[in-house]
Amino acid sequence: MNRPIPGTVEVAVRHILSDKVTGFLVRTRRMTWKDNVFRVRRPQAGKQTVELTCPVCDASLLAEVRTEARTRRTRIVLRTLAALCVIVFFAALAYTIHEGGKTLPEGQSLPTLFPVSVVSVFVTFAITPALFIHSRVYNGVSLLDAPKPRRVHGLRPVKD
Ligand SMILES: [Zn+2]
Repeated sequence: MNRPIPGTVEVAVRHILSDKVTGFLVRTRRMTWKDNVFRVRRPQAGKQTVELTCPVCDASLLAEVRTEARTRRTRIVLRTLAALCVIVFFAALAYTIHEGGKTLPEGQSLPTLFPVSVVSVFVTFAITPALFIHSRVYNGVSLLDAPKPRRVHGLRPVKD
């Protein structure tokens, strides 16, 4: 890849060519797309809307670009959330195993915190990887508006 230029960010406009789900019992999703890399300038402050034209279908897409500082802050927030989720996951898991493994005296039910911890285990298990991935690839550019008729487009971060 090219050397990073300060104050700019590279982003790929992804034009989805086809998206097919086949199979009956085992579903396979087959997607084909074409990525086109653009270099967009970051604003000095706040956020800025840029227009990107998809070279495949000429559709114009609106993307919102945030400052370098803001992007870094969002990444830190995401990483902190991910770390917190890991802590909650292990705490809830330990509690669930601890309470679930007890033999309760007749007529006594599990504490109300038990179902809460079970749910916490599943929720944090599901969202933690997404948070981690997001905190690594987040580049401060998000797709605002897709054209009509709505063709499927996406924005992908490009690693410098
Ligand atoms: Zn397109």
